[in-house]
Amino acid sequence: MNLSQLVRKNILALKPYSTARDDFKGMAQVFLDANENPFPSAFNRYPDPHQKALKEKIAELKQVRSEQIIVGNGSDEIIDLLFRAFCEPGVENVVIPQPTYGMYLVSAQINEIATRHPLLNEQFQLEPSKVLAEVDTNTKLIFLCSPNNPSGNLLNRNDIKTILNEFQGIVIVDEAYIDFSQTEGWLSELGNYSNLFVIQTLSKAWGLAGLRIGIGFGSSEIINVLSKIKPPYNVNTASQLEALAALNNTSVRDECVNTSLVEREKLQKALQTLPYVEAVFPSDANFLLVKMSDAFGCYQHLISNGIVVRDRSKVIRCEDCLRISIGTPDDNSQLLNSLKKFTADKQK
Ligand SMILES: *Cc1c(COP(=O)(O)O)cnc(C)c1O
Repeated sequence: MNLSQLVRKNILALKPYSTARDDFKGMAQVFLDANENPFPSAFNRYPDPHQKALKEKIAELKQVRSEQIIVGNGSDEIIDLLFRAFCEPGVENVVIPQPTYGMYLVSAQINEIATRHPLLNEQFQLEPSKVLAEVDTNTKLIFLCSPNNPSGNLLNRNDIKTILNEFQGIVIVDEAYIDFSQTEGWLSELGNYSNLFVIQTLSKAWGLAGLRIGIGFGSSEIINVLSKIKPPYNVNTASQLEALAALNNTSVRDECVNTSLVEREKLQKALQTLPYVEAVFPSDANFLLVKMSDAFGCYQHLISNGIVVRDRSKVIRCEDCLRISIGTPDDNSQLLNSLKKFTADKQK
């Protein structure tokens, strides 16, 4: 893969904004370079635009190098950066196998990038030949999500390998839910595939959706391109500090993940006993996709009981399905109590 041929010409030529602190290298006590308010408060200084401390911690935890990491204001920012770096508006295109996370399509549309949508099979697995058949000389990115949202399953490794080997552009593997899968994911393959780009987030297993921390992993060449176009201060000081503190104590994440896995199993079994439930799809994530008769009726019934789930019944391959996040043990028992009454309602 020749990266400079993949990058948009204007981005290749771009001279990035250099921050006040980028110009200065060395030690100083007096900072009069950034027009900040000099009177001390927790946040009077600009954040580190390179998120050095946070990246070093992530590198240690994930066994990669700091140069292979970009931190975004949520994964959504990283997805947007990929479009802006690699895809020429009105000309180029990306492939997004469906059904999957809706943000890839929205971000493509915002950036005026055409999208192609081969279907996953009935088990929500890739059909690599169908995916590759959508590729033409203007295809820059393929978005894969594993474990996949909204189906919950990991995508087969060999299928992803086939796509990585055959496709000349960048293959994005979104691993927002990887901690719930208890598999190692794709980070260890970064050295083997220069066109692999992995996205993770602190929004799910780490319980920090409010901080907005998304993490991209790729070759240092890809990371340099994305870093060049990101807003300099994209991750604020409070988020950098809180994220660093959280990453220093993995036991909190581990406990959340363990509880979620126990609850997932219990919920899966309980849901299967409901007479109107037709299938509970196997999940490697912290949610279950549930197929039933009258999914929309069930959705409305739950709302009337103050419980919100995600109605996916209009989504291709997810007809008659609700996507239900795994909650606390108490949330889940409230959910089941309400679902049991739905049977009763229907029999009235
Ligand atoms: C929840 C989710 C994310 C997380 O996005 P953030 O912007 O980091 O909160 C990313 N990808 C998928 C597939 C998700 O479901």
